[in-house]
Amino acid sequence: MLPQLAKLTEEQEMLRQALEGTIDRVSPVSRAQKLDNSKQFDNELHAALSELGILGVGVSEELGGGGGGAIEQVVILEALGRKATSMAVFMVVHFMITRLLKENGSEAQKRDYLTPLMKGEIKASFCLTEAGGGTDILAAMKTKAIREADGWIINGNKMWISGASTSDLMVVLARTSEHRSRGLSMFLVPTKARGITASEVSTMAINGYDTNAVAFDDVRIPEDALMGVLDDGFPQVIATLNGERMNAAAVAVGIGRGALEVTQEYALERAAFGRPIGQFQAVQHQLSIAGIAVETAWLATLEAARRDEAGEATDVLSSMAKWASARAAVQCTDTGMEIFAGAGFDTDLPIQRYYRDARLYSFAPLNQNMALNMIAERWFGFPRSF
Ligand SMILES: Cc1cc2nc3c(=O)[nH]c(=O)nc-3n(C[C@H](O)[C@H](O)[C@H](O)COP(=O)(O)OP(=O)(O)OC[C@H]3O[C@@H](n4cnc5c(N)ncnc54)[C@H](O)[C@@H]3O)c2cc1C
Repeated sequence: MLPQLAKLTEEQEMLRQALEGTIDRVSPVSRAQKLDNSKQFDNELHAALSELGILGVGVSEELGGGGGGAIEQVVILEALGRKATSMAVFMVVHFMITRLLKENGSEAQKRDYLTPLMKGEIKASFCLTEAGGGTDILAAMKTKAIREADGWIINGNKMWISGASTSDLMVVLARTSEHRSRGLSMFLVPTKARGITASEVSTMAINGYDTNAVAFDDVRIPEDALMGVLDDGFPQVIATLNGERMNAAAVAVGIGRGALEVTQEYALERAAFGRPIGQFQAVQHQLSIAGIAVETAWLATLEAARRDEAGEATDVLSSMAKWASARAAVQCTDTGMEIFAGAGFDTDLPIQRYYRDARLYSFAPLNQNMALNMIAERWFGFPRSF
């Protein structure tokens, strides 16, 4: 493994080592690659994460969680991004949903959903994006929940929903009144509810975690399926987005580092002109430049997590961290593919997986241009450009 340049506390270092030991034991690179090629979720690794207490990190012990906060989450996600990227993406969704439940769920919702999620007994999906567009989400949101005498009835379609075919629970954002931003509400909906159809979309990456189009056709849910405050679903989700940005940044750093590690190994083995290709300065420099990008992105991510734990605003810093990490991941994996050359096309080797997986966090959960818009507006003080 490449030396970790940022300093963690002893406990955080122990957490990282315990997690890496578990991933190496349960799902070493060869297995992760096989599952990716056959597009399968890693149920054994999910069970092992549950046993290690990883699924409850970010939730207090009083609520049955494992304690820890933003820093522990990014440490976990970086290690998973490096070693088992599809599971890392699953965990970004999982941490978002446990946070939404922790902050907005009723006592009964916490008991019925948060506890089983943290024990690994159920899985959940987050249904926000619609086919009309994920960036201008308020304009695109057509899914409606209409109040009935004894509950709600949901109609609409969601797009690109991770895990919808394999999860038990969905957090669904739906329009409950006409107001643009104060007219959405969050609902907790069992995936098996009558009227829900999840159809898997064929995707080019994150193959160990299903991506779906989801149709809601007269889905009836009870009154108490509403989570949080009626019509306030959008601000409630926005409140978790800085955390999701940092978490996405951590996965991107993991992907970038993973790509550099396998490339370093390859460059030391592969020979040309009677010497390892890693001896050529052009190869060394490409790797050094990519290394600078990913390590500085990690420092920004860790600092954003530290500030978040201290209760400070992190909108600018988490956007910078997310932009820098997503770009570093693309740079590291591109460099890796160039150095692997022909071998980069071998689907039994992980570099091509890192190269494909790195694309996700360039546009999700916040696309790179929107991160720049946020920095321009809130850091430079420019007027909004859109
Ligand atoms: C594998 C995968 C998993 C996903 N999982 C989930 C999930 O679990 N739940 C969920 O709700 N969603 C999920 N998504 C959706 C994801 O969040 C969206 O793809 C993302 O928000 C971008 O939306 P879009 O693809 O519709 O792009 P669009 O909104 O169509 O944007 C296209 C491009 O337009 C540009 N653009 C738009 N507006 C501006 C602007 N103001 N200034 C500058 N440029 C702009 C950007 O460059 C952007 O990249 C997933 C997507 C994928 C591919």
